Amino acid sequence: MKLIFERSVSGRHTDFLPSSDVPVSDLQFAERERPLRLPELPEVEVDRHYTELSHETRGVNGGFYPLGSCTMKYNPAVLEKTAALPGFTGVHPLQADESVQGCLEVMRLTEQMLAEITGMDAMTLQPAAGAHGEFTGLLLIKAWHRSRGDTARNKILVPDSAHGTNPASAAMAGFEVVNIPSDPNGYVDLAELRQHVGADTAGLMLTNPNTVGLFDPNISEITRIVHEAGGLNYYDGANLNAIMGIVRPGDMGFDVVHLNLHKTFATPHGGGGPGSGPVGCKAFLRDFLPGFRAEEKDGSLHRTQAQARVGDVRSFGGNFGVVVKALTYLLSIGREGVPQTAANAVLNANYLMHRLKDVYPMAFDVTCMHEFVITLEKMKEETGVSALDIAKGLIDYGMHPPTMYFPLIVHEALMVEPTETETKETLDAAADAFRKVLEEARANPEEAHHRPLNTRIRRPDEVKAARKPVIRYDFGD
Ligand SMILES: *Cc1c(COP(=O)(O)O)cnc(C)c1O
Repeated sequence: MKLIFERSVSGRHTDFLPSSDVPVSDLQFAERERPLRLPELPEVEVDRHYTELSHETRGVNGGFYPLGSCTMKYNPAVLEKTAALPGFTGVHPLQADESVQGCLEVMRLTEQMLAEITGMDAMTLQPAAGAHGEFTGLLLIKAWHRSRGDTARNKILVPDSAHGTNPASAAMAGFEVVNIPSDPNGYVDLAELRQHVGADTAGLMLTNPNTVGLFDPNISEITRIVHEAGGLNYYDGANLNAIMGIVRPGDMGFDVVHLNLHKTFATPHGGGGPGSGPVGCKAFLRDFLPGFRAEEKDGSLHRTQAQARVGDVRSFGGNFGVVVKALTYLLSIGREGVPQTAANAVLNANYLMHRLKDVYPMAFDVTCMHEFVITLEKMKEETGVSALDIAKGLIDYGMHPPTMYFPLIVHEALMVEPTETETKETLDAAADAFRKVLEEARANPEEAHHRPLNTRIRRPDEVKAARKPVIRYDFGD
């Protein structure tokens, strides 16, 4: 497609502002060296340009999007509607409490609901993303050990089936990361865990369900081992979609948890935000929470700050619009809808897995949670066709590919997460496409290396696209 500068015709003079009727002041020192080079197009061409651009993007609204570990949820339009209400968009965080009672009520209600869902006693809505929540939660753990004079605890245990952000956040928070291997079933190896806990253990960070889509059956034993060693337990709840309303991290022995409102709670994501990664904690950590909480006093809500708070991790109350969307979502699905959503997510993943597993080898052939992992290691050895080739082939069938080459503990991995709102017909069509792409790849491995065949851009250089993105138009001078 043509860029907007390429559609422009120089000298078209599409500006329609009247000429200035105030005297021109002498601000030569601030003048541009040459006039701003804006594209010159009539309004209809501008409209067509952006409409064409929007057709080039891929979203849940456009089709099946089974991106594992990302919970690409359907984002109902009503969420945008409530988040755009003037009472929410036209306020300023520095306004007096009396003038923003509705906003404070939204925050308080959301905190209460999320605390109930996770089994925690208090929440902060301040972190702006999942990894940001992890960092915040680790600061709470650090502050708690310090408050007790226990400064020797500088290690965070992270199972190798954790999300990649976990070890990164632990390092950012100043901890040393200790890797705990998985056993052959994909669960935390208890013997290894017992061997690594000790007087230097600040805590454990666990992603559950883990990145291979499994719920660790030893969860209570894991948290008990860490508590007995004097550490705290951190729950990465970014992927709560599979368990919300059914089991609670707080009841499994976890002290801190973060959620991704931009996954489980239906805010759109991808492309850089805005997101929200609220952090919940047990009562004994409440005093360290950053930001403010809205508390009721004399019949109205007031912002109060915790005494020993770890310091703000973001400005004011966090990404408030995302919070409005999460609350809208929770109120629209209701108390019964929360566990139903989780049950459907698990059902959809298992259904699709069962429709594929006679031809696609599963990394772990057991009942999964919200996602499952295929391994194409053998196929690659036999035919040269890789997980990447299959993922690219799926694009020809109008599908966004699943997550590839993650988790790292599975070779030639494809991680598939069909969200709970997908119908049986969509899942069947997806299963047919998966099977067809595999069949075609076996029959013609050479062609598989060149897929997708039907898109304008086929195999971009992904490293170059990330490292050397072209984000400015080159005027050639
Ligand atoms: C997505 C995800 C994260 C990171 O969330 P961001 O908002 O991208 O920082 C952390 N843990 C898990 C399990 C995730 O799926």
